[in-house]
Amino acid sequence: MVGGFRAVNPMTSKDIEHVVASFRQYLGIAKGKPINTLNLIERVLPDLLSDYTFCVLPDEDMPGMDGLTATGGDLTIYLSETTYVALCSGSLNAIITAAHELGHLILHSQQSPAFARRTHDDERVDPEWQADRFAEMWLMPRDGVERCRSARHVAAKYGVTDEMAEKRFLEVKHIEIQGELF
Ligand SMILES: [Zn+2]
Repeated sequence: MVGGFRAVNPMTSKDIEHVVASFRQYLGIAKGKPINTLNLIERVLPDLLSDYTFCVLPDEDMPGMDGLTATGGDLTIYLSETTYVALCSGSLNAIITAAHELGHLILHSQQSPAFARRTHDDERVDPEWQADRFAEMWLMPRDGVERCRSARHVAAKYGVTDEMAEKRFLEVKHIEIQGELF
């Protein structure tokens, strides 16, 4: 559908930040500790969630996609074989993809998305925007970033790019989350 997307319940950055913090707490992750997302989605979550499956598919079965998350009924995170191999060797792009899919799983598993027209101020109902924000907050948790001295420190601690670290550092340290700012 041209110009439309699947709308989900609106969430602000602050709402997503709360979900990330609660999920970390639920998993018993120490404050600020970097997380192995591959281990989480492949080994930890299947034990925790009885209706969750992790699945790697041949690239040709996922044309044009690195990852996909099914949230209607049973929950499944699918990664393409290329993404999975890259994730196993620690590729940041693959880690971001996995964290984005985890975002869909956690944020969107109890909703049935509907098509909606995009308007200039409704990115908060865009599941892709929400999953991207989840990934940033998941990879750079607020309580850890708060203790960092600089964006470089954030980049080194969490293995992200300088650009990602800079954006998150500014958000956490200097600017109260306004939602539309990032
Ligand atoms: Zn997505």
